[in-house]
Amino acid sequence: MRFTTLGTGTVSLAAARSCAGYLLEADGLQLLIDCGSGITRRLAERGAGWQTISHVALTHFHIDHHGDLPTLIFAWKYGFLPPRSDPVEIIGPVGTLALLDRLAAAYGDWMRAPGFPLVVREITPSDVLELPGDVTLTCLPVPHTPESVAYSVVRHGRRVVFTGDTGPSADLAAWARGCDLLVAECSLPTEMSIPEHLTPEQCGELAAGAQPKHLALTHFYPPVEQVDIRALVARSYSGPVTLAHDGWYFDFGAM
Ligand SMILES: [Zn+2]
Ligand SMILES: [Zn+2]
Repeated sequence: MRFTTLGTGTVSLAAARSCAGYLLEADGLQLLIDCGSGITRRLAERGAGWQTISHVALTHFHIDHHGDLPTLIFAWKYGFLPPRSDPVEIIGPVGTLALLDRLAAAYGDWMRAPGFPLVVREITPSDVLELPGDVTLTCLPVPHTPESVAYSVVRHGRRVVFTGDTGPSADLAAWARGCDLLVAECSLPTEMSIPEHLTPEQCGELAAGAQPKHLALTHFYPPVEQVDIRALVARSYSGPVTLAHDGWYFDFGAM
């Protein structure tokens, strides 16, 4: 299993960071988590992998987390020969079906019926989704927008928790406890702090509660890159920390 940070940026557009997008690869599963602007480009830079994505999971409905989804579906429909026949499953919190219907109203029926099977599955916190490759997906509501969720991916005893966009949450720290990799948003410096996002200090507090084996930070607005993120995280958390860049990945060994 491998987790790749395809896009570590935000809607504050930055040269080196695409909007949000993450790839979870396991034998038989190519799961794209969020698909913000620039993620189709990041996928293309990696070669043909964009063609084999089998699942997409959205954390919430801000456009920097799904802006490239219509482009990706259009690419699957018209972008390679022979045309795609493999199914795709789009997973997201309640409201995902309505979001895709609105996108289809804007762009065309191909958004929902692209010529290959496209299933939309809304996930609630009580659901345990069994995905190909012995992967289990669950979610937890997080304080960002009403629909926002964090995701947990488990395979063969290894666990990744991705916070999505979130503010501070003791529930999230408890839910993530003991995971192998915690991928947390790290949006804003303390002087710009808002309840819907995390500061580096709050990332440290989250990790102190969750005690992951490895912490990776992402979703950086440019101002947070002006502060010493590592030092601020280290006030509460002393474990290994990565400040992720587009294309960074964490390998869990056997795929
Ligand atoms: Zn965001
Ligand atoms: Zn957001």
